[in-house]
Amino acid sequence: MIDEDLRSLAKKYVIGGHISVAGGLHNGPARASEFGFPTFQFFSKNQMRWSSPPMKEEEAIAFKSEVYKYAIKSTMVHASYLINLASADPELFRKSSDAFYDEISRSDMLGSTFLTVHPGSNPDRKGGIDRIRNALSSVGNHDVMILIENTAGQGNVIGTGLEEVSRIIDVSDKRIGVCIDTCHAWASSYDLKDSYEEFIISLDSTIGLDRVFAFHLNDAKRERGSRIDRHELIGKGTIDGGLINLIRDERLREKPKIMETPFGEARFEENLRYIQSKIGE
Ligand SMILES: [Zn+2]
Ligand SMILES: [Zn+2]
Repeated sequence: MIDEDLRSLAKKYVIGGHISVAGGLHNGPARASEFGFPTFQFFSKNQMRWSSPPMKEEEAIAFKSEVYKYAIKSTMVHASYLINLASADPELFRKSSDAFYDEISRSDMLGSTFLTVHPGSNPDRKGGIDRIRNALSSVGNHDVMILIENTAGQGNVIGTGLEEVSRIIDVSDKRIGVCIDTCHAWASSYDLKDSYEEFIISLDSTIGLDRVFAFHLNDAKRERGSRIDRHELIGKGTIDGGLINLIRDERLREKPKIMETPFGEARFEENLRYIQSKIGE
């Protein structure tokens, strides 16, 4: 277990991380709490496979009781990377929407607060956005808050500009919001470092701060505007102080900030130590 001061830093600023659930979903909360995380992200099934055995009721109950035991305030499921809700290929679109609906029902069984999904890709951006909106409009009742993640802009991915993300979530279902990945925002051009306030103004005027429910707190290996999605340890990348701006921001204080940095759990302590050294400056 790491130092008490780093654990309380994570609690105070609502910082969490992506946690391995090797050995069973019920292992997630205890692992998260070793870092003092009040929140964490995990995969509810193998993220590289289309299908997985249905979730057992006992599995969900065991998970929920551990969340309660470790006083975890919110959890986030990250949906499978295979899902492409923007696809023009009917077969891939069908598989994607089935897998997405399965992610929603698993998240609901687990009582997860959030389910984050990538928008997908399509060379025809308008067509792609329409497809995602159709998929979102056909989601039945759900308890989990579905979050669309902004993208770095590699290839034909949709959801790179904040305007595009706001068009995707412009559906009648109000339990749909946004998760902003700081590395992706930076790679797609937004300057969190030298023009932080401008970034927040764009975020508020497009998506609206009230519809941004969480962040993925990642530094970037590549320069701003590179459109390349390569995460870096906090403080070791090109955004550096931009992340400290965001962590310090009172307006975002209660929103979960989940680290998805290289080496995962093995380096979270180092990230927290870096934040601690900078936050008071
Ligand atoms: Zn993601
Ligand atoms: Zn990324």
